[in-house]
Amino acid sequence: MEGQDLYDLAERLYPITRSLPGEGVRRTLDVLEELIPLSRTEVPSGTQIYDWTVPPEWNVRQATLRGPGGEVLADYAANPLHLVGHSEPAHVTLLGSELRPRLHALPDHPDVIPYRTSYYERTWGLCVTQELVDAIDDLAEYEVEIDSSLDEHGSLTYAETVIPGKAGTGEILVATHVCHPQLANDGVAGIVVAAGLARSLEPGALRNDVRVIFAPGSIGMLSWLHRNEASLGRVIAGIVVSNAGDAGPLTYKQSRHGDAAVDRAAASVLVGREHARIEPFLPWGGDERQFSSPGFDLPVGALSRTPPGFYPEYHTSADDLSVISPGDLGATLAALREIVDVVDANLAYTRTEPRGEPQLSRHGLSGAMTTSLLAGGEEERRALFWVLNLADGHHDLLEIAARAQIPFQTVREVAEALEGAGLVRPAAATERSPG
Ligand code: ZN
Repeated sequence: MEGQDLYDLAERLYPITRSLPGEGVRRTLDVLEELIPLSRTEVPSGTQIYDWTVPPEWNVRQATLRGPGGEVLADYAANPLHLVGHSEPAHVTLLGSELRPRLHALPDHPDVIPYRTSYYERTWGLCVTQELVDAIDDLAEYEVEIDSSLDEHGSLTYAETVIPGKAGTGEILVATHVCHPQLANDGVAGIVVAAGLARSLEPGALRNDVRVIFAPGSIGMLSWLHRNEASLGRVIAGIVVSNAGDAGPLTYKQSRHGDAAVDRAAASVLVGREHARIEPFLPWGGDERQFSSPGFDLPVGALSRTPPGFYPEYHTSADDLSVISPGDLGATLAALREIVDVVDANLAYTRTEPRGEPQLSRHGLSGAMTTSLLAGGEEERRALFWVLNLADGHHDLLEIAARAQIPFQTVREVAEALEGAGLVRPAAATERSPG
């Protein structure tokens, strides 16, 4: 998918009123299913997931705030952010002074609506501009009508798609949250980039399976982890994608390991890009913190443009489609695809005959490959000797590339040529071990 295709898809998904459990997630998945096959899981409301409980399913027919003259001051149909996520139903007439505590606004950004939720505490509230709050008359009457339902017998929906690899031994995870209503960068941008990745991968093109997960944030990702504990040992790398379409620099946040294959793959991909940066792990941010909790300890990093919380439109009505662009969405997808490719190809090799150097001419690797090595050599020749030396089963190709200061792709091509000549073969483990 090109950047424009991603943007067009973002435009379609943007107005859908998503929440943790509810029809909005299912409608979002319906749209994605036109592009990629999805397998869905429904997790019943009330299900215990570690320290959490899946909340009741929340759906909204309409919600309005009317002023003293009956005029509509805020309408869910115009912007779903007006309603605090998971608000219980209400139909009341209140004095302005009684209404005030129910209103959420941003005094520092008086013309935008904040995004607020109350998943685990039963209440209701409205999100409005500070300008509207300032105009509330304490002695006048206001009418609030929230036609919502909280269904204890509902369910939370997540979906996944797996693109099988040719070796099928390991799995690369890519995950994005699908629970944000009408937010562009923090909502639909991650969804379309993850969908674009799934669509770009042909079965059998990579060695490892790639699993793309579309789940509501936190409880949705935890639900996936809860149901897949037995197979988490297959995960060799993971990337959480969100906030993926603004003009800020590409940002990769390292896994808690800091030097996992995915961290080194991201570094090798982003180091050549001008508009990119690497940040160390922090135990807050997006869903990487669930994958990274000590009980899972998966090597999962996060890819974004400007990280969540670090741009002024974040979690407000200003995070609209003008914040994201086809070019930036396309660039995020290209980087994601490249990181996945590198981490997939990052094998460790062992020499088939590790004693001494091989006589290269006997293996069709003579002549140009070796002659000028003593004079400093060309990159391929240096890579050849580095791979032959470090093919001891302990050093993966990213480590060899870093140590040799040679681009990963060159090291990879040389290793594949050596494998083709029967001089090296992939070692069992792809993760770096000490040595
Ligand atoms: Zn968010």
